[in-house]
Amino acid sequence: MTRPSLTERLAANSAERARAGLLRRLRTIEHADGAWVRSGGRRLLSFCSNDYLGLAQHPSLVDALKRAADDDGVGSGSAHLICGHRAAHAALEEALAEWTGRERALLFSTGYMANLGVMQALLNRDDVCVQDKLNHACLLDGAQLAGCELKRYPHADVEGAARQLRARPDAAALLATDGVFSMDGDIAPLGELAALCQRESATFMVDDAHGLGVLGAQGEGSVSAAGLLQDDVPVLMATLGKALGCSGAFVAGSAALIDGLVQSARTYIYTTAMPPALAAATLAAVRLAQSEAWRREKLQALIARFRTGAAQLGLPLMPSPTAIQPLLLGDAQAALAASQALEQQGFLVTAIRPPTVPQGKARLRITLSAAHEESDVDRLLEALSGLRAGGPV
Ligand code: PMP
Repeated sequence: MTRPSLTERLAANSAERARAGLLRRLRTIEHADGAWVRSGGRRLLSFCSNDYLGLAQHPSLVDALKRAADDDGVGSGSAHLICGHRAAHAALEEALAEWTGRERALLFSTGYMANLGVMQALLNRDDVCVQDKLNHACLLDGAQLAGCELKRYPHADVEGAARQLRARPDAAALLATDGVFSMDGDIAPLGELAALCQRESATFMVDDAHGLGVLGAQGEGSVSAAGLLQDDVPVLMATLGKALGCSGAFVAGSAALIDGLVQSARTYIYTTAMPPALAAATLAAVRLAQSEAWRREKLQALIARFRTGAAQLGLPLMPSPTAIQPLLLGDAQAALAASQALEQQGFLVTAIRPPTVPQGKARLRITLSAAHEESDVDRLLEALSGLRAGGPV
């Protein structure tokens, strides 16, 4: 037999990754409390979680989860369309639609599944999907799953996006972008892209995983902060596992869009609905995100403090106004060494390396949270300045 072994091939891929110094590492967090975690028995101050508003351990969320579990158990028991759609899901969908200024919203179990489901439902083989080169992996995978033509444009390049759309003037088109880019932290040129979509009769989709809760007067996200409404961005997707401190995702838009997804989005139809207690906890998180503006204000103040301090130290900051504040180190080994040196000093900051980011663009992805204090940011800056003197940064 000459048939190759799939498991051996996979192992060879991993070995190759190890030789290139790009092995991905899995870490167990033994305990988390606000910005602090325990890992390997050591207490570390984390600057790499997406819990931007510091809600993941909030007593209101924990209480809501416990009460709902006492009342209704743990598992939903089935997919939404069988008998898994509970009152807690419906209430959360209503709150999310209202918050984001959309007619309706639909829950998915993860953001990855939401993006796969939306694209598979909207697009077919004859269509074109135009995407920013730095879009999250699941947007790219979604277009591939849909079988349409995927055309990528240079990061945040509206003219480049226009060229890609004009190359297929007769095809039904979806233009999809991250609202806040997950590895760079910058905000997409949403107003210009919306205008382009209007001119080119393309449907505009924004993945606001990192904007919801953080941007906008009441945390409605990057789309609302850019002054755009449902007609400008008919397909809005966001996740519940970041600023809201829970897990899951939703798509929001017109009643026609949501009804269509219920009929056609396979990652909605053929999967177990999220635990209802999680939906109840998420609703508590939405209420806090809306009403406690101080969390956003504190986060913005910490961002400003970090940027000012990092600029004074001459650190390689990227132009990001959001909670994601990467330091661009370039070399993957340098990024790993910096991350390890920080860990020695009690900080958890992950190195992001190719292929997650392009070759030569390895970085420390530092994320800030309302759970941090000013003194935490100052200590991180001090450690980074020490590293800089020592080499890797
Ligand atoms: N979109 C973006 C922009 C993301 O950063 C992520 C997750 N990191 C996702 C989608 C996927 O969301 P989830 O983790 O809920 O699957």
